[in-house]
Amino acid sequence: MEIKIENLTKAYGDFKAVDNMNLNIADGELVGLLGPSGCGKSTTLFMLAGLNDPTSGHIYIDGKRVNEVAPADRGISMVFQNYALYPHMTVADNIMFPLINRKVPKAEARERAQEMAKLVQLDHLMDRKPKALSGGQQQRVSIGRALINSPTVILADEPTGNLDSKNSQEIMNLLRLSNEKYHQTLIIITHDEEIANQAKHLIRIEDGRICRDEVIS
Ligand code: ADP
Ligand code: MG
Repeated sequence: MEIKIENLTKAYGDFKAVDNMNLNIADGELVGLLGPSGCGKSTTLFMLAGLNDPTSGHIYIDGKRVNEVAPADRGISMVFQNYALYPHMTVADNIMFPLINRKVPKAEARERAQEMAKLVQLDHLMDRKPKALSGGQQQRVSIGRALINSPTVILADEPTGNLDSKNSQEIMNLLRLSNEKYHQTLIIITHDEEIANQAKHLIRIEDGRICRDEVIS
């Protein structure tokens, strides 16, 4: 899906975490979002996802203004640095959770989770709990859970921030595979130059403002 941000601002009192941002992201694009800690990257993604309300400005997904659309109805999935898995649930239950939430029958949900587990290479670990998995494996669960709802946009907030370089590259490969196979629009916040270099559209933020916006041809 195409994403358009128009004059987007998020203020906390006098402080503008996001300051009059304008941005166009093409359908299926792989976007790297960079910038120093505290510059407003997460705030921007959370507003796109509907988890944080803009102070002013507009967000359009595929030409439709979504400011008032509920997070669950935006077709967006998120992936986080700390994986944000349900610790008491198995890998299978974590991956199928969004389907159960949408009242998909359990047998069908289980079957689809099994398919997804193959894609993220966890089908041999379906009965494990998160604490019995490595960081890279936990992030693969989180990506499986993000993909199972067939999102049209994936927002990944420093998905490789807690991983070593080998695991980071594996997670990046998985996200790229998904982006190529399902053509979602994928925005990745990262501090890792090697990860950022794989993006086709680089956006740099400083002090809540875009200071560089470059589509690599
Ligand atoms: P980044 O993800 O780029 O590190 P964030 O988007 O999380 O930065 O935060 C941007 C700025 O907004 C930071 O200075 C942060 O302290 C501030 N901020 C975030 N949430 C709040 C809040 N609820 N109240 C006040 N300030 C906030
Ligand atoms: Mg952040």
